[in-house]
Amino acid sequence: MTNCGAGAPRARARRSHGDAPAPLRRRGRELVGVAAGAEGGRVARVIRNIIFDWSGTLVDDLPAVLVASNAVFRQAGVAEMSLDEFRREFCLPFKRFYDRYVPHVPLEQLEPWFHAAFREAQDQVTALPHARAFLEFCRERRVRTFLLSSVHSLHYDRQAAATGFAEFIDFSYVQVWDKRARIGRLLAEHGLAAHETLFVGDMEHDIETAHFGGVRSCAVLTGYNEVEQLRAAGPDLIVEHLGELQQVLIDGGMSLAEPRSEGKPGAATETPGHDGEPPVPTVGGLIFNAAGRVLLVRTRKWSDLWGIPGGKIKRGETATAALRRELREETGLEIDGIRFVLVQDCIASPEFYRDAHFLLLNYVCRCRQDGPVVLNDEAQAHQWVDLEAATGLPLNTPTRVLIDAVRAAPEFAAPATVR
Ligand SMILES: [Mg+2]
Repeated sequence: MTNCGAGAPRARARRSHGDAPAPLRRRGRELVGVAAGAEGGRVARVIRNIIFDWSGTLVDDLPAVLVASNAVFRQAGVAEMSLDEFRREFCLPFKRFYDRYVPHVPLEQLEPWFHAAFREAQDQVTALPHARAFLEFCRERRVRTFLLSSVHSLHYDRQAAATGFAEFIDFSYVQVWDKRARIGRLLAEHGLAAHETLFVGDMEHDIETAHFGGVRSCAVLTGYNEVEQLRAAGPDLIVEHLGELQQVLIDGGMSLAEPRSEGKPGAATETPGHDGEPPVPTVGGLIFNAAGRVLLVRTRKWSDLWGIPGGKIKRGETATAALRRELREETGLEIDGIRFVLVQDCIASPEFYRDAHFLLLNYVCRCRQDGPVVLNDEAQAHQWVDLEAATGLPLNTPTRVLIDAVRAAPEFAAPATVR
């Protein structure tokens, strides 16, 4: 885990990019600071303002930033980073990151290197799934929207135009090197009540910024930092993506209520037998191919550990129908030879991105043909691996339990022969 971002804010941020007051833009529509939701007498918890981070929250610029950062490292004569290393090590304010890896190169030199390479690569930047729908949701609910980002104004202009997101942001502050030093003034300039304001970001620095401003905070898993890093920063909420945040706000009457659909955690962990939300039944499948290898997927919501595809059973759906559907959605594979292996209690696993109580129905199966695996946006990587070799990978605990059970029972380890 990175050790970045734990210090106190500097009294005055460096300003080679023209930091505070950063470029201030105003969209041309009149602002109405009234949220549509209501919670009886508890209106203080309603979120009326959202401050967004940009990179990793609204757009996916990670591939382009990695290309540009490695161009910097090459020119500085230091080793390049893999994507995983970069996600672990990159931190804001980014001067801290560069001070650690290329302390012998002045920032005045690093910047032109970075921006030249980024300009070449930034056509790879794309809108994140759910981002546009979430911005439209904010507009419908008359939530005021702000941007507080370290992105360079030239890159922001191009990316905002390409995604069409600029029209959804009421005020944008870009080239802000240390957001902690800026958020107080942002709140004051717009008269935002801290308890009605939510900061959404993908990095520890974003959550720390929310703490500095005294506002609510939501971490998303669509960007740079991993679950463990984000959890350590202490956000009010961690969501997989903005689509989940939207559902949380709808369910909570525009407040930050805990999601209702995942087996409300505290009931099970703190007061067994408490009459709260019941556990959530899910299915998961260890898929064998014709060569006898099994498919593993790596997901951010399981702390970037390797696991099996699967998901929740829908009302009215049988468990095996849910298994076929989930595996098709998440891998593009059709399966046969389904065999039930075991059921696991999964209560508030620290490996899962938030507190939840699942009942995991675990199966083995085989894919009908060795077609290409097509992941949806829930997983970031996949691999086919021998069952024995799988045990040497960083697996999430339920998957390790399942694989151990399959290895111990030969009839499960060869489902390709099952008719
Ligand atoms: Mg970010």
